[in-house]
Amino acid sequence: MSPAKQVVVLGGGFGGLHLVRRLERHLRPDEAAVTLVDRQNYHLFTPLLYQGCTGELPPHAVAYPLRDATAPAGYQFLQSEVTAVDLDHRRVGTADGEVPYDHLVIALGSVTNDFGIAGVRENALPVKWLSDAETLRRHVLDIFESAAIETDIARRREALTFIIVGAGPVGVELASSLRDLMDHTLRKIYPSIDFYTDIAIHLIEGTDHVLPAMDPRLSAIAMKRLEQQRVRVLLKTLVSEIRPGIVLTKDGAQLRARTIVWSGGVKVNPLVASVDLPKSKDG
Ligand SMILES: Cc1cc2nc3c(=O)[nH]c(=O)nc-3n(C[C@H](O)[C@H](O)[C@H](O)COP(=O)(O)OP(=O)(O)OC[C@H]3O[C@@H](n4cnc5c(N)ncnc54)[C@H](O)[C@@H]3O)c2cc1C
Repeated sequence: MSPAKQVVVLGGGFGGLHLVRRLERHLRPDEAAVTLVDRQNYHLFTPLLYQGCTGELPPHAVAYPLRDATAPAGYQFLQSEVTAVDLDHRRVGTADGEVPYDHLVIALGSVTNDFGIAGVRENALPVKWLSDAETLRRHVLDIFESAAIETDIARRREALTFIIVGAGPVGVELASSLRDLMDHTLRKIYPSIDFYTDIAIHLIEGTDHVLPAMDPRLSAIAMKRLEQQRVRVLLKTLVSEIRPGIVLTKDGAQLRARTIVWSGGVKVNPLVASVDLPKSKDG
């Protein structure tokens, strides 16, 4: 009998984890040895990441251990950074050595796209990974602590100004979740802050409506809800640069905020881009 084929799955996100679960149902144990590789040892359930950002849910509620999916099926899990894919020699380079394969599935997802705008990476917070949510949650709570004892109104209001760049699903949901956190949780415990006049949440969008990739009816519903939640939506506003605490727009405005979040979109994972395979139009 020929040895079992080596199936290697890169990435335990939605694509990779779904595939592993399907293989478990469809492959006989002697048919293939399956190895899942991911830099994290958990699957991140991104639809609940906002609740991680606001502290509504603890980290373990949005992170599912990948070994819970691989071990019962008799599959291997390797926590490591994938650094290269060698199609010619059928092996994957990782931070912990090479992994040979007969069949390879690349499901490494996307990375944050800053569209080459200066200062995004250095001066804005991303919302993509669990560590981003933890950083943002800590940052927001620290801001409220310092604002609570700030007696200068102008400084307090600047500290409590939040700018979110990009009104796709991530930006819209984050703006809304932040307002919910403030109105339902923080308002009760920060009596020295006026939650109506001291806090501003700005959502910046380059096109002329929020959720531009979605059905216009959904955009309209989201816009109405954001208005009800006192989120100031700046449409047709293109960001040209982000400096520490300042968002510069192409029409010359300078918006100041202690918290600047970048939710401008994603692009193809550079590792996937580097592999010589046929790709779809967007990579
Ligand atoms: C905050 C947020 C909320 C979202 N909400 C929704 C929603 O409600 N509904 C919806 O349909 N979509 C939502 N999305 C989009 C959704 O998360 C993505 O479409 C989905 O994750 C893509 O799945 P994937 O398997 O391609 O990639 P991912 O889920 O990103 O998985 C990629 C995996 O590869 C790993 N990886 C990447 N590079 C390497 C490397 N070099 N080495 C090792 N491991 C690596 C990562 O750790 C990750 O586990 C949301 C996204 C975000 C950021």
